[in-house]
Amino acid sequence: MIHRQMGRQVASSTTVGSLQTGQGQENEKEVRRNGMTQTAKKSLYALGLQQPRFAYFNGEVRPWEEATLHVSCEAVNRGLNVFEGLKGYWQAGGVEFGIVELRRHYDRLSRSARLLHIPVPVSYEEFRDACSKIVRALYEPGKDMWIRATLFVVEGHWGESTVADLVLTAYHQAKDAPAPVAVGVSTWQRSSDISLSPRIKSSTNYQVARLARIEGKKRGFSEMILLNQQGRVAEATGACVLLVRDGCVITPPASEGRLESITLEIVRKICHSLAIPFIERPVDRTELHIADEIRLVGTLAELAPVTRVDEYELPPTSPLTDLIAETFWDAVRGVTPHPAVELTFV
Ligand code: PMP
Repeated sequence: MIHRQMGRQVASSTTVGSLQTGQGQENEKEVRRNGMTQTAKKSLYALGLQQPRFAYFNGEVRPWEEATLHVSCEAVNRGLNVFEGLKGYWQAGGVEFGIVELRRHYDRLSRSARLLHIPVPVSYEEFRDACSKIVRALYEPGKDMWIRATLFVVEGHWGESTVADLVLTAYHQAKDAPAPVAVGVSTWQRSSDISLSPRIKSSTNYQVARLARIEGKKRGFSEMILLNQQGRVAEATGACVLLVRDGCVITPPASEGRLESITLEIVRKICHSLAIPFIERPVDRTELHIADEIRLVGTLAELAPVTRVDEYELPPTSPLTDLIAETFWDAVRGVTPHPAVELTFV
């Protein structure tokens, strides 16, 4: 599959794992909590551009340089792939490394693949073993990791004889507290379920998000919120939107045009355990401007606090979501395990 094409076409191939997340390293500030030093940075998705030594493809961990796709395959020609972004944390004590909600990520990858008629070439057990292999090949003490699992369509044509390969790339991440962000509401809209469903996590579904981020950058925002076709809140370009009004945690349902977020499910369960009301309902744009607290929620964003939406400043304190975020952090890092978070140790 991939490596068969690679030998022939290295010069005209494209590297599969290029990382598009933010590079901002500015405004560093030390934050100490739970005995762990974190570095708060301005960039929301602060992974930086990295070129790891290895990638996983065609069933093995192989040298990064060999992870290429042929220009004629559907993954390149039509951007045909589905993917997941997973997070692994060194656990408190620094001996064990835990990947968050591995099974749920596999299940969502399989659902995305089903919706695009892409065959899933691996069982859950094979997926788990592959993730373990790439993490073990690359992890370093103290550095958390973000793992991108992609099914690239390497053979087939317009839905005929479709063959996909599981490709895994993994990147180091410092123990950063998610940086507070100012966000704007984009003029670009989230696609609807009858065009390209937001439920499908595919690169092609991020084209509009990319435009929104470019727009945002010009307006001074590091993240943008997209509205749906009805003008209500859908989600941010790489995270879901959580707001607090009158003591209630509110988020739009998936049918408003957001990804079926795994982190949101964790947050829902944490809220339940803390007796904080959690409501899914459509959210108007102006509610973003009058909310008591807002967070961007996702695997990479974790629970990033929002300081401003457009020209509207949010209140300076966020007591309810601080509590939820603390509980989340302690759970994913094994400081205080929580039943809302399932970890797979590798
Ligand atoms: N929406 C979009 C568009 C995303 O890219 C992400 C990140 N995967 C999310 C929401 C949050 O989903 P999750 O909590 O599963 O990471």
